[in-house]
Amino acid sequence: MFDSEDYEEEDRLVMSTKGDFDVEENVLRPKTMEDYVGQTKVKENLAVYIAASRQRKDALDHVLLYGPPGLGKTTLAHIIANELGVQLRMTSGPAIDRSGDLAAILTNLNEGDVLFIDEIHRLNHAVEEILYSAMEDYALDIILGKGPSARSIRFPLKKFTLVGATTKAGNLSAPLRDRFGIIARLEMYSAEELSVIVTHSAKQLHIEIEDAAALEIARRSRGTPRIANRLLKRVRDFAAYAGNAVVSYTDARFALDKLEVDELGLDLTDRNYLSTLIDKFDGGPAGLETIAATINEDVNTIEDVYEPYLMQLGFIAKTPRGRICLKGGYEHLGRSMNDKQRKQVSIFEISEEGEEE
Ligand code: ADP
Repeated sequence: MFDSEDYEEEDRLVMSTKGDFDVEENVLRPKTMEDYVGQTKVKENLAVYIAASRQRKDALDHVLLYGPPGLGKTTLAHIIANELGVQLRMTSGPAIDRSGDLAAILTNLNEGDVLFIDEIHRLNHAVEEILYSAMEDYALDIILGKGPSARSIRFPLKKFTLVGATTKAGNLSAPLRDRFGIIARLEMYSAEELSVIVTHSAKQLHIEIEDAAALEIARRSRGTPRIANRLLKRVRDFAAYAGNAVVSYTDARFALDKLEVDELGLDLTDRNYLSTLIDKFDGGPAGLETIAATINEDVNTIEDVYEPYLMQLGFIAKTPRGRICLKGGYEHLGRSMNDKQRKQVSIFEISEEGEEE
């Protein structure tokens, strides 16, 4: 029998970061704006800008896409290049060590090409500076020599479009952020949208699945297509192991329960986060680093992967003094609040209302 123990590593099933075990990710990427599910506002605006740039026969303005991992930033970069009818070059912030590396990439671009830089907030400063003139004037400023005799020469580049992706728009320096003409924030997907994605992915992977099963996977995918696709594959494994050719609703529920992904898509780490905040820190406020150290998790992972969804659900809030657990968080774990916790939650709610006015 399958046991969730077998999935120790993939216990990170709800991890929405890219993993080595996702070889099929490229197969599942939609190729056109039409097939890209959801994100209606972003899609509509981009379609206008793309059409306009094609009409002008000019490069599209630089695009910054931001939002939690797995929401479709890379996919959208592919689609932008596809719809512009140009080539896509891909790299990422941490992969570019030296300014020379970036200069080499930039000089190799053809007219109108799209350069995709994932995790653009992780570019080092020297590399980032090269980007400024490249983005603004389509030129490389190269410094020759050192000290008083140093001089700078300008090297022209072909017009290109930079598509930057980041999970942390706030970590981008102002000069870099200001050079993007188009800034789009990707939102988490509804269960209905994710269900369309799951059904489509199932077709691509030759998996037969009932609509109710697709919706159940979607409901537990925390608004993230990458997680939906990953859960679909694991559910398929359980169904196949049980000898079922068509993945049924019962198969989906059984597999997701085994994987310890609960009704709302929370996994062990999410629940651990909440119970630690409640039990060890009396509901908070507690600093991110302190929580991370207590539950033995990486700070960035908590901030990029776990917290956005817990906040979206209204289970936790970030306050200037640290993270606090909100009513929904207590309820989800079946906990009642003590007086101090109740007071803290109500103070937070009142101050929120004040801000909205
Ligand atoms: P990100 O770059 O934001 O981390 P990706 O673009 O790599 O996310 O998307 C992860 C996976 O989710 C892709 O394999 C793609 O198949 C799927 N996906 C993402 N967004 C959509 C969408 N809007 N419609 C259909 N599938 C999507």
